[in-house]
Amino acid sequence: MTKHCCEMMRSNVENICDMHPDRFDCPDCLIYYSENRDSYGLIIHDGGHSVITISYCPWCATKLPNGLD
Ligand SMILES: [Zn+2]
Ligand SMILES: [Zn+2]
Repeated sequence: MTKHCCEMMRSNVENICDMHPDRFDCPDCLIYYSENRDSYGLIIHDGGHSVITISYCPWCATKLPNGLD
């Protein structure tokens, strides 16, 4: 189990809705967490699997691991 910085982050990265089994298809899924790289990214809903790596939590402003350190 990964420990996320706050409840908002946890519920967002763990959320999978009934309509969209692929989180990249779901407009409600804002954040993608990569367990392999231990990094967080903002999902770009362009029909693909694009993410922009983010360094701080948008909700609690905790500095996030970005897989680059
Ligand atoms: Zn947070
Ligand atoms: Zn959805």
